This record gives sequence, structure tokens and C-alpha cells, in this order.
Amino acid sequence: MSNTIERIKCLIIGSGPAGYTAAIYASRADLNPVMYTGMQMGGQLTTTTEVDNFPGYPNGTDGTAMMEDLKKQAERFGTEVRFGLATAVDFSNEVGGIHKVTIDGSKQIEAETVIITTGATAKYLGLESEEKLKGGGVSACATCDGFFYRKQDVVVVGAGDTAAEEATYLANICNKVTMLVRKDYFRASKAMEHRVNKTENIEVLFNTELDEVLGDNVVEGVRVVNNKTGDKHEIPVTGVFIAIGHKPNTEIFKGQLDMDETGYLITKGKSTKTNKPGVFAAGDVQDHEYRQAVTAAGTGCMAALDAERYLGSLD
Ligand SMILES: Cc1cc2nc3c(=O)[nH]c(=O)nc-3n(C[C@H](O)[C@H](O)[C@H](O)COP(=O)(O)OP(=O)(O)OC[C@H]3O[C@@H](n4cnc5c(N)ncnc54)[C@H](O)[C@@H]3O)c2cc1C
Repeated sequence: MSNTIERIKCLIIGSGPAGYTAAIYASRADLNPVMYTGMQMGGQLTTTTEVDNFPGYPNGTDGTAMMEDLKKQAERFGTEVRFGLATAVDFSNEVGGIHKVTIDGSKQIEAETVIITTGATAKYLGLESEEKLKGGGVSACATCDGFFYRKQDVVVVGAGDTAAEEATYLANICNKVTMLVRKDYFRASKAMEHRVNKTENIEVLFNTELDEVLGDNVVEGVRVVNNKTGDKHEIPVTGVFIAIGHKPNTEIFKGQLDMDETGYLITKGKSTKTNKPGVFAAGDVQDHEYRQAVTAAGTGCMAALDAERYLGSLD
């Protein structure tokens, strides 16, 4: 490791809606934040074209354009946005202690406060046709994209609580929801399973897997396979919702920060405080429930305010 060391007041790791909102607030509070963007500058929203539910855009907006706007707004107040990946961390246990974060395996940042906004990554099945039609009818977020399939037929893949929730959410909007469940039982809680079973326009196909998403530029249907009999058949649908879970981007924080059993960072009460003083977490990295740009932005704001108050309490 090279011995490039830089001392700063506030480091923001990640450049999604949580990171940029934290940056806007932190820079306006004179914390002179430095942000490292990670490999996906702008975060998850740069993988979608239409964002219809972020307040302030009456006609909707393009995900990448929206994140560019947030970046410019953060830079206007002095945030230094740098391309780079946090590769290791050494957080202090002391109140007022200095936190060390390694960037790209070589540069070392020493920060009085750290705001973690590294997000989460939706899991997909890994089919070529699924990859090709992402944004053309294949989605991992019913709350985000369900509206585009109003009164249409869709498929939900998954058997856990998230899949059951996505299916019941979509059932309110769509004509028919077909759930593909790999095993012959649900993994979801009994309560969620009951909700699915009670919903008239949800059909559950057990022992059934997605074999192929059909369509050239947009989804026109799916081919499914019964994993017991090997029988295949096609279902005409316009939307395919993959609901097999998310993976929080928290690998580098293992052993340093408290996490739940699935790797989401744990924050204290209503705050963004982690178990290390001066280290805060915002956005999807600490939220497996809401996972929306606006909720990520809201907690990004909270993290900057928490960081400012923490520094103020040291004076
Ligand atoms: C296809 C799709 C469509 C969506 N549509 C909508 C929608 O219409 N409306 C809506 O409200 N929500 C939507 N969402 C959800 C929304 O994108 C997320 O809730 C939101 O982006 C979470 O923001 P975040 O800031 O917590 O993290 P993310 O957006 O996930 O950003 C994480 C950031 O952390 C960075 N990072 C990760 N690891 C490191 C590291 N080690 N070092 C440095 N940086 C790192 C990444 O590069 C990235 O910049 C959609 C999601 C997807 C996938």
C-alpha cells in the first residue's frame, strides 16, 4: 500500500440518491465532504430509464439524468466527487476517533465521520434473455415499475416474503399475476402466503421455474418448466418481476459494523448511527423494506444531519 494519506471531516461512500443527498446537506453544513462513487456512479437508478415516482418531476424523468442532477447539486455546494472504490475500512471505537478507509487498495482516507451509502444489488436468475430484457419488461422492483403494467398480465418469480408482497402489490394494479415457485411450498410467512391465496387474480404455479423470457425488445411472454415433469409451456405476459432477494453491498464492513443475518447494516432507533461513533449508514444498505430512491434520499439527509450533530457534540 502506498502511503498517500488524506485527512478529511466527512467521507461519503457511494453515489446513489442516499449518497448525493447526504452530500448536499453535508456540504451546506461546511463538512467539506468527499464522495467516492464506487463502480456504479449514480447508483441503481442509472439502470432504469423511467422514474415516475420521485417527487418534483411531474412528467417523470430518466434515472441517469436524475442522478446527474443530484451530482451537480451536491457539487454546487462544494462536494468533491471522486471515482473510486472503498476496499477496506478500519473504524475507530472511540468517540472523536479517526476512521481509516482505503480507496482502490492504495490511497488512505482518514475521516472524522463516514457516511455509508453503498446500496444493495437485486439478485437475478442469470438467464441471457432476462439480462437482454431488463428495462424492457424485466424488473426487480414492483413498487418502481408495477404501474407501467396496469391492467396487464405479469409474472413474479420467487417464493419468499418479498415475492409474496410484490405479487399482492401487483395484483392490485394488474389484470393477472402468475407466481412461479421453484419448490412445492412457499418460503414466505404463513400470513403472506395466506394473503396470496386469498387474492383472486394471483395464480401460483409450484415446482415451476422460469426457462426463458420471450420477446425481442420488450417482453411478450415467458416459457416455464415444471421441474418435476420437465413439461414446458408458454405464458403470454408483458412484465416479469424477479423477486428472489437483494444483496446489500456490505462485504468490506464485515467484522467492523453490526449487520443483520442477511448483511444489512443495523442503525440505532430512528437515527442513521451505526455501532461505531461517527459512522452512519443511509439508503438501501440499511433498509430492506422500502428500497426507494426517495426513502434513500431521506435517510441520506438524516445521515448528514447526524454527522453534523456528532461533530458539533465533540467541540
Ligand atoms: C431497475 C431499477 C429501477 C428502479 N426504479 C425505481 C423507481 O422508479 N423509483 C424509486 O424510488 N426507486 C427505484 N429503484 C430503487 C432505487 O434505485 C434504490 O432504492 C436507490 O437507488 C437506493 O439508493 P442508495 O443511495 O441507497 O443506493 P444505490 O442507488 O444502490 O447506490 C449505491 C452506490 O454505492 C456505490 N458503492 C457500492 N459499493 C461501494 C464501495 N465499496 N465503495 C464506493 N462506492 C460503493 C455504488 O457504486 C453506488 O453508487 C429502482 C431500482 C432498480 C434496480
